[in-house]
Amino acid sequence: MLKDIKGTVKIEDLSEEQIRELQRRLGIQQTGIMGPMTRKAWEDWKRSKGMGEPGLIGPGSIGLLLEEIDWTDMTSKVSKYFTVGEVTKRQAARIPTSKVIQDNIVRLAKELDKVREEWGKPIIVTSWYRPLAINRAVGGVDNSQHIEGLAVDIVPIDPVELIEFERWLDEHWYGPLGWGAQSGRGFTHLGLTKGWRAGGKKGPRWRY
Ligand SMILES: [Zn+2]
Repeated sequence: MLKDIKGTVKIEDLSEEQIRELQRRLGIQQTGIMGPMTRKAWEDWKRSKGMGEPGLIGPGSIGLLLEEIDWTDMTSKVSKYFTVGEVTKRQAARIPTSKVIQDNIVRLAKELDKVREEWGKPIIVTSWYRPLAINRAVGGVDNSQHIEGLAVDIVPIDPVELIEFERWLDEHWYGPLGWGAQSGRGFTHLGLTKGWRAGGKKGPRWRY
């Protein structure tokens, strides 16, 4: 495991298993071999954190790496209350690979944390990120915010509270909101432009 590395070492000196873990966390192919692709990915990642010495790995860089969301691990948290598994419906085909989309998801997750906190009870995600092909397969429109990771469909853990939940969301959610509860779809759609209690003009409202 990378966390077992005590001092700073050369990346060539990692074990095959450690290289695989590094590759998995960098989101690249897991070959277990320290080749040019892995070197480049490590160098780019270190540079993105303001670190030099691309040939070295040690407790500082490993600590930062392990804090990052592991998008291949369904239990990895994207925010205080939500996990990669909820973003992807636990489907590998729904794992976001683009940094822009990953960042969008985290932004929305932080707003959803506020909703969760104030509602005070668990919120169930029925659909979040949908890559274009999956969005088409489920009958979504091509301009859906789900494709960008910027929309989520949710229900309260107690389904009888759905209508009340939706009215409460409508009051305080300043991004787009799709009324699903009251049109029989059984979920509320929230999109992110502005989020929770943002103030100003609210985003569009529609019924499914
Ligand atoms: Zn939706």
